[in-house]
Amino acid sequence: METELITHSCTEQSKQEPYKQPAEETVGMKKCPFCAEQIQAEAIKCRYCGEYLDGFSRAGSRPREKKWYLTTPSVVIALLCVGPLGLPLVWFNSRYKPATRLIITVIVLFVTVLCTYLAASVYRQYLDQITTLGI
Ligand SMILES: [Zn+2]
Repeated sequence: METELITHSCTEQSKQEPYKQPAEETVGMKKCPFCAEQIQAEAIKCRYCGEYLDGFSRAGSRPREKKWYLTTPSVVIALLCVGPLGLPLVWFNSRYKPATRLIITVIVLFVTVLCTYLAASVYRQYLDQITTLGI
């Protein structure tokens, strides 16, 4: 019910938006994605909020470059491929909270143990079958 209401109001809003702002954008101007003020289309820095636009970054305070092996997809792939051997990636990953690291570690170890157990039981069944067949 609540979700329905939210969805409804959202669609209403997006429907109304074109009427609310009838061609407010002046030629040669654009809307700042950070503060929504009208700024020069050529501007690389918003004069209202001081944010840099279009990938220009403040000298000295560039966003921290992500190491490729510390992004979530690579960590997930590493864990899927090498299992517990990928755990150091999680432990040394400053992007994860200690609690998150602990949860991921527990899950990975659990899955590893489960897989080992399954593999062992399949192997045992296989051996049993061979014995039963008397080969
Ligand atoms: Zn701005």
